[in-house]
Amino acid sequence: MLNADLHCHSTVSDGTLTPEALAERAKANGVELWALTDHDEIGGQQRALDAARTQGMKYLTGTEISVTFAGQTVHIVGLGFDHHNTALTEGLRRTRGGRGERAQEMSDGLAKVGIHGAYEGALKYVGNPELISRTHFARFLVEAGVCKDTPEVFRKYLTEGKPGFVPHRWARLQDAVQWISDASGIAVIAHPARYGFTPNEEYALFTEFKAHGGRGVEVVTGSHSTQEAARYAETALEFGLAASRGSDFHSPDESHTDLGALPWLPGQLTPVWELLADRIQ
Ligand code: AMP
Ligand code: MN
Ligand code: MN
Ligand code: MN
Repeated sequence: MLNADLHCHSTVSDGTLTPEALAERAKANGVELWALTDHDEIGGQQRALDAARTQGMKYLTGTEISVTFAGQTVHIVGLGFDHHNTALTEGLRRTRGGRGERAQEMSDGLAKVGIHGAYEGALKYVGNPELISRTHFARFLVEAGVCKDTPEVFRKYLTEGKPGFVPHRWARLQDAVQWISDASGIAVIAHPARYGFTPNEEYALFTEFKAHGGRGVEVVTGSHSTQEAARYAETALEFGLAASRGSDFHSPDESHTDLGALPWLPGQLTPVWELLADRIQ
């Protein structure tokens, strides 16, 4: 089996390592095929590709697009696309567009429960001014001593119904899948076990994703248990989707799953990189 890690984040979105530091860490951990998948952003792709070359690792371009489906946020990973594609670049720019205002509103919500200066505090952690995310707020709230770690911040402040949560409209599923496909890449449903969908909603997600041209699903990820991986291996077979593998690594201090340190894909599945053989650089 190939040690492929096709999901992680750099300082270009909400990770704490630069693309170069990630490439070095991936190589040290035995990764053979790597993709950097920053949220709604491909500005780090050339750096990641160059760093992968320096390290002697194969590379697939990547991104993780925020999508709103059935009133919830779903993440669609794109792999192996042409990172100079104009429609993809423009679609991602629009998707990032509302983040600044959303962050101001998050800060207002937190101020109402006595946490002041969260916007400015979060900004200190931001590496890309167009990509302020909940993760940056979480880091500030830990620094400020409000919570002991980032999962606690999400639980108490940044998820639906909590003071710092602001509902947001992201890209449409069909648009995200089309931007990726039209740029010669493959769209993949990220960490499916993380969504709070009913069985009917989940069935609709997979059905519509497939109908729009989506071709893969993450089966082995840092956020799936062994049972969840087995479950989505079956879903992949049921929907005729290829399987992906990725740690979703964000930070040495925060992420439980390190780059490349993942179980293998279950047998019988088609790995996404087999569909992307001619896109590997
Ligand atoms: P945003 O795109 O601003 O909504 O932020 C989403 C990011 O927050 C995800 O990509 C994760 O990195 C992080 N995140 C979401 N939920 C949690 C959680 N429960 N614990 C820790 N990090 C989380
Ligand atoms: Mn993230
Ligand atoms: Mn995600
Ligand atoms: Mn991710």
